[in-house]
Amino acid sequence: MRYLILSDLHANLEALEAVLEAVAGESFDATILLGDLVGYGASPVEVTERMMGWNGPIHHVRGNHDRVVAGLEPADDFNPIARASLLWTAEQMPEAQVEFLRALPAGPVWVGDDVLACHGSPQDEDLYLLVHSQAEEAFEFGARIVLFGHTHMAGVFERKDGRIRAAVPSADVVTLELSPPAAYLINPGSVGQPRDGDPRAAYGVLEPEDDLFTWHRVSYAVEAAQERIRRAGLPALLADRLEIGA
Ligand code: ZN
Repeated sequence: MRYLILSDLHANLEALEAVLEAVAGESFDATILLGDLVGYGASPVEVTERMMGWNGPIHHVRGNHDRVVAGLEPADDFNPIARASLLWTAEQMPEAQVEFLRALPAGPVWVGDDVLACHGSPQDEDLYLLVHSQAEEAFEFGARIVLFGHTHMAGVFERKDGRIRAAVPSADVVTLELSPPAAYLINPGSVGQPRDGDPRAAYGVLEPEDDLFTWHRVSYAVEAAQERIRRAGLPALLADRLEIGA
C-alpha cells in the first residue's frame, strides 16, 4: 500500500493546491488525513470542499480546530488569535460543511493492521507530542506506525531495542527506512501552517509493506495565502507567521 499523508491543512488553499500539484503524477491506494482542515487560514470553505469531494479512498481523523468549527465545543480554551480565526471560520462555512466536520472521527483510527492515525497522540487527540515521556506513552498503544500531527513539526520518534530516539528531516525529500521490529511515531509536518522553521508546505508518503516513509516539502504562493488572511480581517500574525514557518 502507498498512502499520501496530510495534516494540519488549516484553511490554506494555496499550500494544499501546491501539494496536490506535486503529487499529481503519483498513485496512492489511499490518503490519510490527520486533522485540522480549518482554523488560522482564510480558505476554510475551499479547503473543506476539496476534502469533501476527494477523489479516492481517504481515512480521516478530526483536529481540535475542526471540533470547534463543527460546534462540538466552544473556542474558550484557545488563545485570542486562534479564537478569532475560529469564530470567523464558523461564520464562513455552510451547514453541509459544518456537518462534514462534525462527522469526522476522533482518533485514533486504524488503517490496516499496523498503521494508526491520530491528531495529537493515540491516547489524547489534543496532546502536543514533543518529548520522550509522551512518546513512551504513545508507543504503549502498540501500533508499529503511529501517524500524528497537531504540533505542525515534521519529525519522528523511533523505539528500537527499548530505546527512543527522535529525529527531524533535514532536506527537501528525506526517506526514513522503517526497520522491524522497531516502532515509529511519525509527524509528516503541516500542509498549511508549518512551525518547524521551514515555511514550505509539508506532506508525507508511507509505504508500510516496503518499510518506507518519505517527508516532502513544496514551495507555494505564501503571499497569496497571506493576502487572503489580511483581506479577511484576520489577525495579522496569522499571515506573518506563514513566511517564516513558525
Ligand atoms: Zn493544527
